[in-house]
Amino acid sequence: MPETVRRHLEGASPVARYPQAPSAPHTQARPSAVVGRRDPRYPDLAGRGINARFRPDPDTIRVVATAEQAVRAVQDSVRDGTRLAVRSGGHCFESLVDDPAVATVIDVSEMRSVYHDEELNAFSVDSGATLGTMYRSLYLGWGVTVPAGRCPEVGVGGHVAGGGGGALSRRYGLSVDHLHGVEVVVVDSAGRARLVRATRELSDPHRDLWWAHTGGGGGSFGLVTRYLFRSPGTDEGSRPADPGRLLPSPPAAVLRKTARWDWQHVDEAAFLTLVGNFGTWHERHAAPGDPGAQLDNSLALPRTGGGPLTVETAVDATRPDAQELTDRFIAEVSRNVGARPEISVTTLPWLAATLVPDEFAGVKGRFKSKAAFLRTGWSEQQARMVYRRLTDTSGYHNPAATVYLLSHGGEVNRPGPADTAMAHRDAVLKTYWSVFWFDEGEDALHLDWVRASYEEFFGDADGVPDPGRGYGGTFVNYADADLAEPDLNRSGVPWHRLYFRDNYAALQQVKERWDPNDAFRHALSVRLPGDDAPGIS
Ligand SMILES: Cc1cc2nc3c(=O)[nH]c(=O)nc-3n(C[C@H](O)[C@H](O)[C@H](O)COP(=O)(O)OP(=O)(O)OC[C@H]3O[C@@H](n4cnc5c(N)ncnc54)[C@H](O)[C@@H]3O)c2cc1C
Repeated sequence: MPETVRRHLEGASPVARYPQAPSAPHTQARPSAVVGRRDPRYPDLAGRGINARFRPDPDTIRVVATAEQAVRAVQDSVRDGTRLAVRSGGHCFESLVDDPAVATVIDVSEMRSVYHDEELNAFSVDSGATLGTMYRSLYLGWGVTVPAGRCPEVGVGGHVAGGGGGALSRRYGLSVDHLHGVEVVVVDSAGRARLVRATRELSDPHRDLWWAHTGGGGGSFGLVTRYLFRSPGTDEGSRPADPGRLLPSPPAAVLRKTARWDWQHVDEAAFLTLVGNFGTWHERHAAPGDPGAQLDNSLALPRTGGGPLTVETAVDATRPDAQELTDRFIAEVSRNVGARPEISVTTLPWLAATLVPDEFAGVKGRFKSKAAFLRTGWSEQQARMVYRRLTDTSGYHNPAATVYLLSHGGEVNRPGPADTAMAHRDAVLKTYWSVFWFDEGEDALHLDWVRASYEEFFGDADGVPDPGRGYGGTFVNYADADLAEPDLNRSGVPWHRLYFRDNYAALQQVKERWDPNDAFRHALSVRLPGDDAPGIS
């Protein structure tokens, strides 16, 4: 047993932070709470969104604990003609829920069962569970997992419908690559709310609704009550099948190596070499089946004063070649950078390595993030521009502004672009600009900086990651409403092309069939066919 694993066993376990989910649906469910402005619970519920930039102002928040309560809450809202939005983990980057125009928020966070549904032979994960609760329950119960995001506080509700990806995705694909079905409250043309099950079975007449939830984004088609997970091809044997074979098993332990360079030792040449090496490595190792796709890597480039430039790689610690793969990666990325990085190494059991709170846990500030999928590393011109933006202190002084490069590809790139609604199956990296601050009076300063940086970065494509000009579009889970604003996206490339590429027309067909009155809508929701307006009413 590695020393760090042994020490972990002697210390406090992070597992306790994420409670075990109820193992079966609530049979004696609590009543649905209807919380108005004068209710003492209102501020806690209205303020659940993580981005303090937004001012939610719903008249009513409905806390639902069962699918039946969810149907009733949707029905009441439709009957009253109020604009509704659904909230799960509250980790949306934008005001898709915290829009002042939303009058009713349906909060599903009390629906969080995780269990093996014997009848369907699939794992049922209620849409109000967090990723941390899902990871814990699936792993401790059956030794399996769904490849999903890095932040355990994120809600399954929004995350999975947007595609869902994280530390195990290069190895096992996206969450939606293991999605067998969904149960969704939809509203028909007569305004009737009802619960529908949709699966990936070719014979399922509702299959299009399942497909829309494999990357079409949350809040566009209905209220998801639960997701059903089972990897393709695992239910072919005789029943009763072993549930432990229905989903991937995560590694027993994770080996993580981190290389840090202090900014004072990094000049422009060193910076260009580091980001160039990182990009080249991912161009070479993003194919499904490549041994390098075993690694999950990131490069964090904070502005000067915001900490060291940090490369991190993680791999299944039980692989015989784990040390060799990670050493080679660190060596290739560091080659000719000049300054020697400070290296740290840890090995932790999988759950402890996974249930690590993100930087937002316990801190509610204001932020803006802008992201893109990349089919290659950065060009030298882009790297020079980023270096200037990170080191120039003449007009901007925020150390809490960071540019990231995150590994992508591997098994994510195995399915075809139309197999799921998640069309981005050709990227090798994600890049991601993030700015964080507290003072409302500084909004314009920080927003201008990140918007101008992004526009300049994609200057050869009129300011956006245009899939028609060599870039990979962007990720609906990293919602950026700027792209749907004509003043901020002047490229002429529609926002939906950036998010959904060639899958948008099919998503619109699903929208027309399952949400013909557009009951579920927000700034980045799929529009009804013929509705090309950039904003929403
Ligand atoms: C710190 C942080 C780390 C992240 N890391 C990752 C990552 O590693 N990988 C990744 O893919 N993404 C990541 N994300 C993005 C995240 O997946 C999305 O923001 C996701 O939409 C959040 O889901 P939520 O339920 O927490 O958010 P919410 O704000 O509750 O909802 C987001 C959207 O989904 C809709 N929605 C929520 N629940 C339902 C439901 N039950 N039915 C229908 N619609 C629903 C909402 O209406 C809204 O439009 C991260 C975000 C943050 C803030």
